Amino acid sequence: MSEKSFATSLSCMDGRVQLPMINLIKERYSVDFVDTITAPGIDKVISDGNIESIKKSVIISVSNHKSSHIVISGHFGCAGNPVSNDEHFVHIKKSVELVKSWNLNAEVVGVWIDENFVPRLI
Ligand SMILES: [Zn+2]
Repeated sequence: MSEKSFATSLSCMDGRVQLPMINLIKERYSVDFVDTITAPGIDKVISDGNIESIKKSVIISVSNHKSSHIVISGHFGCAGNPVSNDEHFVHIKKSVELVKSWNLNAEVVGVWIDENFVPRLI
């Protein structure tokens, strides 16, 4: 029995972003499953340092599921973080740096989801 592989998605709670993120992550990193941790406007939440519960979830994903990648996304038209695209990019990049500083055994990357709900790495 081969072990199943996992990655971790840190995304907005917005229902429009879940499937695009899962599909991107499964295709790009060839994982079987995507653990999904959500909060409204999660790029803002993490970059503001409100990470206690999020960090706990990420550590479970990396420790117990051996997640290989942690993907932090922000998206167009976000009700939880209603700022310009440029501000989202700043929040996403800051969140990536913050999560990298946890020194977990997984690669950390940022993704922007545009007005057509197409995700791409930034
Ligand atoms: Zn949102």
